[in-house]
Amino acid sequence: MARYTGPACKLCRREGTKLFLKGDRCLSDKCAISRRNTAPGQHGAQNKKMKEYGMQLREKQKAKRIYGVPEKQFRTYFEKAERIEGQTGENLLTLLECRLDNAVYKMGMAENRHDARQLVLHGHFTLNGKKVTIPSIIVKPGDVIAVKESSRSSAKIKGLIESLESKTAPKWMDLDKTNVTAKIVAKPARDDVEFPFEEHLIVELYSK
Ligand code: SF4
Repeated sequence: MARYTGPACKLCRREGTKLFLKGDRCLSDKCAISRRNTAPGQHGAQNKKMKEYGMQLREKQKAKRIYGVPEKQFRTYFEKAERIEGQTGENLLTLLECRLDNAVYKMGMAENRHDARQLVLHGHFTLNGKKVTIPSIIVKPGDVIAVKESSRSSAKIKGLIESLESKTAPKWMDLDKTNVTAKIVAKPARDDVEFPFEEHLIVELYSK
């Protein structure tokens, strides 16, 4: 299925919760969920009771929407997560956290994951010294993400570099604000995922 390109806030209203798709706006009182938490559409304000399948489906949709991953790719991550030792749900979240676009967002070089994906697609980053343009690359401990030298003079990138000063990177990466690099030092743990996913619901959905 094609990637969703409509209004981000509509996705949050559909899920009935903040998915934090827009950066600072999500923390302000302009957030659509803070103002009116109803599903989009004519019958959005009706309080519908969710059945088991509905809850599982919504949890999967939340994860897909937060990380901006299409269905087919999400399923592939799930299958990969099943093959990794440990709990499938946790493995799935770890894989999603390790996407290059998420890592760029977490190092503070983008307002949100969508912007991070665009910056990677436009070739503004290197991974281990080589230019990359694939947001879905899975980073691993030892990898080093950096802003490409020739991109550092662009106004947008300069602004993002300046804003790094107030940012805090997660503990699974070592952020060097001076050189604008982030070294992956560990695999993200379950508590590094800020969104309160109930990943067991996703596992149940795909295990039917
Ligand atoms: Fe979702 Fe952010 Fe829009 Fe709020 S502002 S509805 S959290 S995308």
